[in-house]
Amino acid sequence: MKNTEQVILLKTGNFREYDVWIRYLSATQGVSTAFAFGGRKSHKRFFGCLDSIHLVLASFEENRNKTYIVATETSLIHGFSPLKQQRHLLGVAMYCIRFVEKIHTGFLGAEECYTLLKETLFALEENPSQWQDFPFYFRLLYTFEQGYAVDFTSCSNCSATGERKLFFISNAGSLFCEKCLNSYKEKNPYERITYFLINREQLENLVWICTHRPLDWKDLHIAYDKKQELMRIIDAYSQAHLDLSYIYNTKQNITKNI
Ligand SMILES: [Zn+2]
Repeated sequence: MKNTEQVILLKTGNFREYDVWIRYLSATQGVSTAFAFGGRKSHKRFFGCLDSIHLVLASFEENRNKTYIVATETSLIHGFSPLKQQRHLLGVAMYCIRFVEKIHTGFLGAEECYTLLKETLFALEENPSQWQDFPFYFRLLYTFEQGYAVDFTSCSNCSATGERKLFFISNAGSLFCEKCLNSYKEKNPYERITYFLINREQLENLVWICTHRPLDWKDLHIAYDKKQELMRIIDAYSQAHLDLSYIYNTKQNITKNI
């Protein structure tokens, strides 16, 4: 295996006297680790590249026994310096990076994950007014694009539209109308079912976020109390589909206050 592609460096570290390991995200490999031998001294092959939150063009190959990946050369495309100089933006960027590192496994969905993270970093670098909401929007769009897309406009069972009341059932991870919610309860009499009503305004917000890119997120303005409610909905939706125990320590019921 030999390839050259753009990657985002998530984490780097030193080992031995001159060598560096890198944890990176690429559109073809997902989250991977490689060794950059001589990374601390070779200005020709790695100059100014081997640092976290760097977008680089990197060449990779496997070692002779095919037991690990070696980064043979990198060149810096973008260093996100303005972002790194502002602690609040850096904090959000690190949240997104840590989220990807913990949650994304394998190469399935790697292209969507890579594109989302790259676009989010570039959007943050513009220091948008809504930067504090980015972790939630990032989590929502990540979940949506990784095979857990929910139609936020209709019942997942009978396709009734938002003209009827729509409930999110955490156990099923999708929306049900009142009639289908009742039949879901009847079919699962021994299951502890967690559900809550999502009003039309919040359904529209969810659709908006899932149909826009990170550079647009600054344009979504929501009143504070509505925003708190939206964050709890996003929490419930992402928790229904992803293992977020690294954030919450244990899988807890965060829907009770909705
Ligand atoms: Zn229904």
